[in-house]
Amino acid sequence: MDSAFFTSLLADYHWQYSLIALVGIFAIDYALKWLAVLVVPTFREASAVNQAAYREKMEKPAYAANQSWNRKWGPVNLVVIFGLILPFCLTMDPQPWWRVLLDMFVILMFYDFFYYLVHRFLFHDAGFLGGPLIWVHAVHHRQQHPCRQDSSYIHPIEVMLGLGLYAASIFVLSRFMGDFHVVTIIVTWIAFSEINLHNHDLWKADKFPFKYLNTMAFMHHNHHAKFTGGNFATISLLYDWMFGTLDYGDEYTQKVIARNQAKAAKTGAANPADGT
Ligand SMILES: [Zn+2]
Ligand SMILES: [Zn+2]
Repeated sequence: MDSAFFTSLLADYHWQYSLIALVGIFAIDYALKWLAVLVVPTFREASAVNQAAYREKMEKPAYAANQSWNRKWGPVNLVVIFGLILPFCLTMDPQPWWRVLLDMFVILMFYDFFYYLVHRFLFHDAGFLGGPLIWVHAVHHRQQHPCRQDSSYIHPIEVMLGLGLYAASIFVLSRFMGDFHVVTIIVTWIAFSEINLHNHDLWKADKFPFKYLNTMAFMHHNHHAKFTGGNFATISLLYDWMFGTLDYGDEYTQKVIARNQAKAAKTGAANPADGT
């Protein structure tokens, strides 16, 4: 790559913007959670149920050890992302409000597409790659009926891959779309992390306006219930719908069994030398 590329990249390094984004994410996320639990009874009840489940799980030493093992790596990821990647992707130039929403949508859906592929083909054995990182992802799947805090019950390598993919999505898109506003990164990061947390929520409210939240938690719990489940995307159900991996429960299991049987029958037919 020519030196002009690196010169223009270095001129675009704004650590101050990255620091503002980091502080903004923590402060606004904390304030929003505090407000949501204070004002909305449904969030208050869900928070109590999930906290109680988490406390119970933390009584098991192996569970507590995994949570603290993972937490140790959190600051390293933040330093790399907010010190070495995001400073190249940020601006404070004024933008119309709709641009923030549009950019948030593009970043999340772009990330979700690649996360879908990684989750389906590297973390699970759902295709030609044979799931080379099953051993990493198996840690997260030890929780067959997760609660909110299980979104961080993960092997540190998986956290690095997930966050790395997210930061790489922002970096690549910023090369094509121009630098993202600090506000865009703050709202997108909060949405990204809250969606991931919520997917693991023990959740009961299934009436308007909580129907969508109920569906998302239900679908990710289906994914955790068995290692051969569908629902591989994390931000939305779009890619699972497009690629036929939506998992509402038994129906998907039957589909996987039928597919495996068909595959086995085909392999048998293709190997007449095996004596059958
Ligand atoms: Zn999985
Ligand atoms: Zn999960």
